[in-house]
Amino acid sequence: MKPDWEITGKCQICGVIGDPVEHTVSPIMHNAAFKALHLDYVYVPFKVSKQDLRNAVAGMRALNIHGFNVTIPHKVDIIPLLDEIDEFAGKIGSVNVVLNENGQMIGYNTDAHGFLYALLDQGVEPEGQRVAVIGAGGASRSICFALAERGAVLTILNRTPEKAARFATEMSEMTGQPIQVMALNDENLAGALDNAGILINTTSVGMYPQSDESPVKHDLIKPHLTVVDIIYNPFKTRLLLEAERAGARTISGIDMLVWQGALAFEIWTGRKAPVNVMRKEAQRFLKGHEK
Ligand code: NAP
Repeated sequence: MKPDWEITGKCQICGVIGDPVEHTVSPIMHNAAFKALHLDYVYVPFKVSKQDLRNAVAGMRALNIHGFNVTIPHKVDIIPLLDEIDEFAGKIGSVNVVLNENGQMIGYNTDAHGFLYALLDQGVEPEGQRVAVIGAGGASRSICFALAERGAVLTILNRTPEKAARFATEMSEMTGQPIQVMALNDENLAGALDNAGILINTTSVGMYPQSDESPVKHDLIKPHLTVVDIIYNPFKTRLLLEAERAGARTISGIDMLVWQGALAFEIWTGRKAPVNVMRKEAQRFLKGHEK
């Protein structure tokens, strides 16, 4: 009997480049999705160091790799190595998906809309809301752009506020939305949360192995808030557990992970992603490997 999923000589190869990649969930999600739709595609991890990025992109071309995800530390550095950058990804200045279209390497950003879809999917509309975003790293940049473009009013709180100020000015000019920047401390956080409807943690505080830490003191979390943590290991961070206890609505990092993956899947295959299959498999894998 023919197996329900097999790799033939016509197989399209997708993957992820990053360093580290050992803990990635993407192969689990994407291979489950290819299998569910009986597509002759496969997804594999490629560990690529910073100094090998240029050679790796040349190798992707030579081997006719169909598409790949780009993760830490390459999301910005890959931009000059590609043939074309989608306008939205160019504005954000970060690429997390590449499509090889007949030898043309095209860069996209699905982190931004992946995050937005994660909110909308849970019935949370950021338009017109005040949103407090903690952190100003790579992920924050995509998230802030998606939110500002949607019409949210942002306050970014970062340990190093100068880092946030740089991209907030740029983003405010591009989207026409005011973006406030503050140093991350309890007093500023309390002030920002008084007016906010949504709180988002984009820092790595609370991620394994710092699982017993939270970037927000529990008594600052009020029941009217939607609290989003983009960390997905552990599955429920201390911040989300304390937010639940405070009566707030919570959204886990797995939702963004699944939606950015679903949008990448659609770019590579032209097919609607089986989002529920991807979520189920990502959850199963993460629960089994939760630290
Ligand atoms: P990044 O570029 O390294 O940025 C890290 C951010 O965390 C910076 O704002 C940094 O502040 C802040 N930070 C780090 N340690 C801190 C501490 N002890 N106290 C206060 N702030 C601290 O990392 P990233 O790529 O944005 O990723 C951040 C997190 O998001 C990671 O946990 C990653 O796994 C997760 N993520 C999830 C998804 C998803 O799909 N769910 C996607 C991307 C990333 P400074 O600027 O002051 O250094």
